[in-house]
This record gives sequence, structure tokens and C-alpha cells, in this order.
Amino acid sequence: MKAIIIGAGIGGMSAALALGRCGYDAEVYEAVKEIRPVGAAISVWPNGVKCLNYLGLRDPVKALGGNMAWMAYRDYISGNNMTRFSMAPLVSRVGESPYPVARAELQQLLIESYPAEKIHFGKRVCRIEQDAEGVSVWFDDQSHARGDFLIAADGTHSVVREYVRGFPTERRYAGYVNWNGLVSIDESIAPANQWTTYVGEGKRVSLMPVSDNRFYFFFDVPLPKGLQEDRSTVREDLKGYFRGWAPPVQRLIDAIDPQTTNRVEIHDIEPFMEFVKGRVALLGDAAHSTTPDIGQGGCAAMEDAVVLASVLASHSLSLEDSLLRYQQRRNERVKDLILKARKRCDVTHAKDPQVTEAWYQALTREDGVNVLAGMCETIEGGPLG
Ligand code: FAD
Repeated sequence: MKAIIIGAGIGGMSAALALGRCGYDAEVYEAVKEIRPVGAAISVWPNGVKCLNYLGLRDPVKALGGNMAWMAYRDYISGNNMTRFSMAPLVSRVGESPYPVARAELQQLLIESYPAEKIHFGKRVCRIEQDAEGVSVWFDDQSHARGDFLIAADGTHSVVREYVRGFPTERRYAGYVNWNGLVSIDESIAPANQWTTYVGEGKRVSLMPVSDNRFYFFFDVPLPKGLQEDRSTVREDLKGYFRGWAPPVQRLIDAIDPQTTNRVEIHDIEPFMEFVKGRVALLGDAAHSTTPDIGQGGCAAMEDAVVLASVLASHSLSLEDSLLRYQQRRNERVKDLILKARKRCDVTHAKDPQVTEAWYQALTREDGVNVLAGMCETIEGGPLG
């Protein structure tokens, strides 16, 4: 059985590896000639790590990951801890560690773990047709491929999504801008083994350790969409938005490299249920785009890949029926993740300032139990428990 996979991002490569493991011949077609991931790093939570373990990548992922042994929220003016607690109870409950990783390194690992001759770059899908025996796909260089089924992991701007749903899908602006990048660890900004987040004014500044003595940093600011800001003004922009914030935040802004700092207007997509049309299935951001507020978009793409492989592994049902089972098993899970992230997004970014103020107050009384319980629930809702 030949699978065509569209997109060589986290979702597409995880799907290729997962299908390869259960005997499918999966060929990946990627639009760009060279992958340049949007965003500097991602946190792979234990539900995602378990999926990568399933794909045979346990040791290399651990090697890429930072040591996030502690978690702390800090007051934006004083820089003092509002709460600080160990992540050990989470790890012992869910059975795996979270790993913040440089995105380009995770992407490279996924690509290098799959046979190079089965990944075709510079192939942008422009048309799909299916019949009773299979799926045909055409690329904008006039070439063409055919397989028994097609997995569309072509991201949040998916073109295949319109084919599956029958109409275009709007993305929803979540109301804030995120700047992110990598910087050398400086313990005067935050401890090297801690996920540290400075919060205030509906904004946040966060640092997570990744391998090779680097912090993944990000800044969030509630802003209107479409401002004329870019790399050339990033330091001044951040200095303005974070005027009066604690000295470590100022040091971080001084330390970042504007040339490698990304600026992203954050969006999601209203959850929808149509992931499958006959022999064509959506996977990853193409099927469910979430704000990054609970760090689960990429993890959910990995989960999709594991579930897809599990429904196809027995070869006992028709392809169409197997893909419908994949849709059934993913619909509620990813809807839950999108809505949880949206709720977290609104509280963090002061959609209702009173609710956000109450959250800041609650953080000063937090001993970790509530925060970790919420994280564990999200993690354990994944397909590998
Ligand atoms: P993508 O990574 O977008 O890959 C899609 C691929 O398809 C691309 O390579 C693209 O070039 C290709 N493509 C597009 N169109 C076509 C076409 N027509 N033909 C062929 N190929 C095509 N997730 C987490 O789990 N943890 C985090 O901490 C986290 N942090 C985030 C922070 C930010 C700021 C953002 C924006 C997202 C974050 N995410 C996080 C979400 C995560 O990045 C995405 O969910 C994940 O990248 C989705 O993977 P994907 O493979 O579905 O899509």
C-alpha cells in the first residue's frame, strides 16, 4: 500500500515514520526546497515525547531536550518568584519528561530518520483527485504522483483542507503577537534548569532551557493584527512594550539577536470534525490549528501520526473505514486541546483584565499542585496515556 504524504513538517514526517513502521510505503512531498521552520523551538510535552519514543527516537530526542526540572512564575516588576515548584511530580505521574527542543533540530532529526529518497522537496500540491482505487495528486512543477491514500500535513494554511471540507476555512486572530528565538543561557536572567515566566499587564516573557546551553525565549504582547513591525525594529519594539519590567527582562531584550528573532501573529482555527474525505485525511495543523498557549500543536500532530498508524496497522478494515476511525479517535481530543489553549490564551493575555488579575493573585498562592494537575490531565489524554 502506498501512502502519499503532503508536507515534511513535524506532522508529515511523524506520519511517514509511523506508517513506515507498520508496513506502508510512504512518500513525502514537500513544497519548499529547504525547510526553514517557523519558530525557534517548541516544548515537546510527555504525550509528544511518548509518540517520538514510539517512532524509535527516544535517545536522540532526549539529547536535544533541555532540562526543565523546575517551573516558576515571576512578578514582572520585582522579578521575584510568585510561585516555584519542581516538575518531578509530573514526570513521575505521566512516566516521561517534557523536552523543550530547538525546532530546526527536531525537524532535522525527523527528516534524517526517514529514507532520503522517499522525501521529495520542491513539490507544491495544487490539485487532488480520487477514485475507487486511489488518489492522484498534481504539483505546481507539472509533475504528478499516485497512491492508495493521501495524508495532508500541509500546515495551518493547508490547501488540501478545502478539498476535504468543501469550502475555505478562516483562521482566527487570537489577539496577541509572539516573538521567539534562542539565546545563550544567562543565569542572571533565569535558572538554567527551569521554565521561567515573567507575567504582568496581560503580557509574558518566558524562558525554557534547550540543549547546548541555550534558552528558548518568547515574549507575548496583546496587540492589534497587522502592525508594521519587523526584525529591524524588534529590540526597540520590545523595549517599549516591556518598559518598567524587571532587570532580567531588560537583559534578555539586550541579549537577543534581532536577525534570528521571529515575530508571529498568533491564530487558531475553530475546531471542526471533517478530517477525512474518502482516501484523503488531514493531519496536524491542517486538521486542527491551536494557539501555542499550552504548547500542544506539534504534540497533537505527533499523536495524530500514532493514531493513524494504529488504525491502519491491522490492515483488517477498508482504507476509508480506517481513516474514518482515525477521524473519530482524534476529533474530541484535538477539539479539547484547541479550546483549552484558547482559554489559557485569554487568561494569560488579559482578554478580561479582572480574570487575569485573579490569576496573578492565584499564582502567589500556588504550590504547583493545581498547575501540574492540569498539565497531567492534558498529557494523559494522549493516545499513549
Ligand atoms: P507545519 O509544521 O506547518 O508543516 C507543514 C509543511 O507542509 C511545511 O513544511 C510546508 O512547507 C508544507 N506545505 C504547505 N503547503 C504545501 C503544499 N501545498 N504542498 C506541499 N507541501 C506544503 N507545538 C508544540 O507542540 N509545542 C510548542 O511549544 C509549540 N510552540 C509553538 C510556538 C509558536 C509561536 C507557534 C506558531 C506554534 C507552536 N507550536 C507548538 C505548534 C507547532 O509549531 C505546530 O502545531 C506544528 O508545527 C504543526 O506541524 P505540521 O506538520 O502540522 O505543520
